[in-house]
Amino acid sequence: MMINKVLIANRGEIALRIHRACKEMNISTVAIHSEADRDAMHVRLADESVCIGPAASVDSYLNIPAIMAAAEITGADGIHPGYGFLSENAKFAEIVEAHDIAFIGPTAEHIRLMGDKIAAKDAMIRTGVPCVPGSDGGVADVAEAQKVAKQIGYPVIIKASAGGGGRGMKVALTPDELETAFRTARTESKAAFGDDAVYIEKYLQKPRHIEIQVIADTHGNVVHLGERDCSLQRRHQKVFEEAPSPALTESERAEIGKRVCASIKKLGYRGVGTIEFLWENNEFYFIEMNTRLQVEHPVTEMITRKDLVQEQIRIASGEKLSFKQKDVQFIGHAIECRINAEHPVTFVPSPGTIKDFHAPGGLGVRLDSAMYTGYKIPPHYDSLIGKLIVHGMTREECLLRLKRALDEMVISGVETTLPLHLRLVENEDVAKGEYDIHWLEHFLARES
Ligand code: ADP
Repeated sequence: MMINKVLIANRGEIALRIHRACKEMNISTVAIHSEADRDAMHVRLADESVCIGPAASVDSYLNIPAIMAAAEITGADGIHPGYGFLSENAKFAEIVEAHDIAFIGPTAEHIRLMGDKIAAKDAMIRTGVPCVPGSDGGVADVAEAQKVAKQIGYPVIIKASAGGGGRGMKVALTPDELETAFRTARTESKAAFGDDAVYIEKYLQKPRHIEIQVIADTHGNVVHLGERDCSLQRRHQKVFEEAPSPALTESERAEIGKRVCASIKKLGYRGVGTIEFLWENNEFYFIEMNTRLQVEHPVTEMITRKDLVQEQIRIASGEKLSFKQKDVQFIGHAIECRINAEHPVTFVPSPGTIKDFHAPGGLGVRLDSAMYTGYKIPPHYDSLIGKLIVHGMTREECLLRLKRALDEMVISGVETTLPLHLRLVENEDVAKGEYDIHWLEHFLARES
């Protein structure tokens, strides 16, 4: 039975994104919001809304009892967690399902497995996915770390098993740097995630970040929707994403897609998922799997013309995917620019009131945002205020269209990262698609 009413356990552009998918399926929506988000667009557009607590995320968007109460009061029979907040919280998924409400996401078991990066890597190796060479499981102390690092060769990276959002990672270029890197990674991980388990990987020098989008229903259908290239990163955080990757050939795409689908099928996974890889010298190395909808999912939607959120709702309702692998065709090229309310050079957050707002338009231009003229960006949450996504039949057309869309777009009253994106689309390396995961940091260091 199709879900009737979805409670959207999120805010901002992703809450709107989910609302839009629901409306196109004739499903009612319930927005939840903090006291700081009373005037937010997702609250205005949803069919119903419930204030679930004060501004601080822990008291509102992360407040499970308040969210469950809102779902019960409004009679929602599905909950979509979006990304961030509770989207990868296995306990939340369990609680939702214990209330006989469909969790629009994977099972708690899979969220838990992939949230533990050591266990995730192990599961991937067992199901035939290539990984970055590194320790076999966790590393307990400095002596063990030294032993493993010597075996795999320097440079190495120490990573938190519970890590996320680019935190809890430390690079050791040489043996003398290892002890400090190991101890810092552990301490940071304990402080940020309450868990000090770490592991070691070979630190790849010039890889690209290429991730594969998969989707699986509960009837045994597993389909991949190609890759996204998210190599343009600042502090291990994605800034600009594209699909397809300028580096992959059609046969490489088909090959990795097949391997990933086989692995996902063996794991019995349900829902959307992203298998993240580093890619160097034409080889893929798994780094982690995200068990949720990703910020950058629209570039995949633009080149495949599939609505990932609608498919998520279908899967959570127990239905089959609306397409098979043979129905997936990759058409043209898409790029997404993340628009953050931040200073474009210093990246200092810039909350405040949007004075003037003008959205770009025209063929192949999509703006996923919750902004409007007069909108007051609260200081309490992530600084992502929108995503500009552009499609073109070729990469060249896509870049030209992106430039003209960025030229049209106006956001005044707060600082945003739009000027950075304008510099990127005009850059020669970006035009040629020649960049790796360190390119943007070097560019910023050079140009500022
Ligand atoms: P998180 O969950 O915190 O995002 P990931 O494991 O996905 O952590 O890594 C985030 C980014 O860190 C990658 O996209 C890449 O830029 C860098 N990174 C991670 N592992 C390695 C590695 N072994 N070698 C080089 N860079 C890495």
